[in-house]
Amino acid sequence: MRGFGTLCNELRIERDRSRTAVDSVVRKDLENQLSFRIARRFRSGDQEHLGRPSGARGWHRLRGGRFWLRQLRRGLALLTLLLPLPALAAGPVVIVLSWDGTRHDYPERISLPALERMAREGIRAARLVPVFPVNTFTNHVTLATGAHADRHGIVGNRFHDRERGRFDYSDDASWLEAEPLWVAAERQGVRAAVFFWVGSETDWNGIGASYRRTPFDSAIPESQKVDQILAWLDLPDGARPGLILSWWHGCDSVGHRRGPDHPAVAKQLARQDRELARLLAGLDARDAWATTTLFVLSDHGMAAATRWIEVAEILKSKGIGARIFRGGGTAYLHLDDRHRRERALSLLSRAENIQAYASEQLPAKLRGYHPKRSGDIIVLTRPPYSFSRPSLIERALGRFGRIRGAHGYAPDHPAMGAIFFALGRGIPRGARLAEVRSIDVAPSVARLLGIDPPRHSEGRPISALGEMLSGGVEP
Ligand SMILES: [Zn+2]
Repeated sequence: MRGFGTLCNELRIERDRSRTAVDSVVRKDLENQLSFRIARRFRSGDQEHLGRPSGARGWHRLRGGRFWLRQLRRGLALLTLLLPLPALAAGPVVIVLSWDGTRHDYPERISLPALERMAREGIRAARLVPVFPVNTFTNHVTLATGAHADRHGIVGNRFHDRERGRFDYSDDASWLEAEPLWVAAERQGVRAAVFFWVGSETDWNGIGASYRRTPFDSAIPESQKVDQILAWLDLPDGARPGLILSWWHGCDSVGHRRGPDHPAVAKQLARQDRELARLLAGLDARDAWATTTLFVLSDHGMAAATRWIEVAEILKSKGIGARIFRGGGTAYLHLDDRHRRERALSLLSRAENIQAYASEQLPAKLRGYHPKRSGDIIVLTRPPYSFSRPSLIERALGRFGRIRGAHGYAPDHPAMGAIFFALGRGIPRGARLAEVRSIDVAPSVARLLGIDPPRHSEGRPISALGEMLSGGVEP
């Protein structure tokens, strides 16, 4: 018979590999249905005793009945939640959490004890500088690939590819034109686990994370992500992921609705911080810091926006039709008739608060032009203007002037800066960095894991990170 430990480990793996397992419903189901008596007997490791729960029945009977087999599997799955926490064995682990839309200066004005601890005991950068265009999908893919948008191809949350058509919250990793971290890790023998990250839902060129949560569901709270991350850490050597990434809500949504300075932003961040505190406590309890590095960072900041520019109206006045893909301070225009591009450009360049470029003439330093995905014209604006429309209801109520939040502005605009905190293995205590570039995150993570950076990475490891390790590689 296989050893109890092996059986347990296999069930843990099976549990975590399942794309739908261990959500709260399953967890509740397990808790409700399983008798703690069985669990305790498992815990004792006394399989013979286990096999005779009511005296006369043997282990073979238990294996023979489907009902009992189901109970056994449930029991073992629950057991993995009940076992005492083992200290993590050697082998580096890097956890990356992204708090969507969390601006670099929010932690200055909001009390966030868990983040404060990370700054005190680890490092904090004054700001993380995003890439163009400063949007969620683009920057999450940059964080994962170390590449700019013109290299990795995700030029916005929504865009149109001249050959493939519309990209809109696609869960198909083949849209990524650069290798993400989880693929680089798996390719080099390091297991990866992803609880939501753009592009992680399907394999990329035949390789995917060993553990991944799909489909994306924004209703899933951070508490579940913390539970799952800790469960991943409790997997045995060989099964435990070395790389864990997870997208968190951050305060993007409330920042858009209420603007970056609204008290609701602080409330939401405090909620995120409480979940982070739970993760830190879990890492403390596992004595994990000698082998584990935790990053908490963000994709972009948020600016107050009060004015809405409707580019379509400007073009319509001269009978020029276009499909518009909006992302706050940036928009891609696909003209119905490309021959009218010069006319459209001259119209737009006369409009106030708009910078319009023939797409291929976007300033090269922005690294944002993609020949198939950037449309015919790219328009840019500055806060407080935005190309993104208020909702239908808001428009109906005439609330154009209300303060809202937007991003998508120039990456070096101060309000676009994101947070960056790191704590644990390879991280100097209490260091302060001025600026960190988002393209440098993936190569830094790779260095901490002792692997080569993702194939198309253009960044370099952040110099303060991993220097304490010999040669930047796990000794
Ligand atoms: Zn956003």
